[in-house]
Amino acid sequence: MDCIFCKIANKEIPSQIVYEDEKVIAFKDLEPQAPVHFLVIPKEHIKSADEVTLENCDIIGHIFSVIPKIAKELGVTNGYRIVNNCGEDGGQTVSHIHFHVLGGRSFAWPAG
Ligand code: 5GP
Ligand code: ZN
Repeated sequence: MDCIFCKIANKEIPSQIVYEDEKVIAFKDLEPQAPVHFLVIPKEHIKSADEVTLENCDIIGHIFSVIPKIAKELGVTNGYRIVNNCGEDGGQTVSHIHFHVLGGRSFAWPAG
């Protein structure tokens, strides 16, 4: 499968990894939108949030359980934003579910 994030998970494409375990990998975004900006993905290929089911949703809880640890390790102390873009209108450009974690500055709401 020609998926850039599967290739990152398999180390076929280099990335700046900030966390890894048997189920997930987190790495710095290539085009950071904040002083701290990393992506957390399941190693399993799930296309988008629209493809999360009762059968595969444990990984989402797992992802949310590692985010606070990584954020702390990267020195984010005053909150952060978690973003999931889903599908075309959601602004998703890579079709492998991922959660952006942005910190180190404050963010406006609602987002564009
Ligand atoms: P999306 O727009 O799908 O929510 O986010 C995709 C993100 O992946 C973008 O923020 C983009 O900068 C990042 N990205 C795309 N290709 C690569 C890559 O090869 N390496 C890394 N580290 N990030 C990437
Ligand atoms: Zn993939």
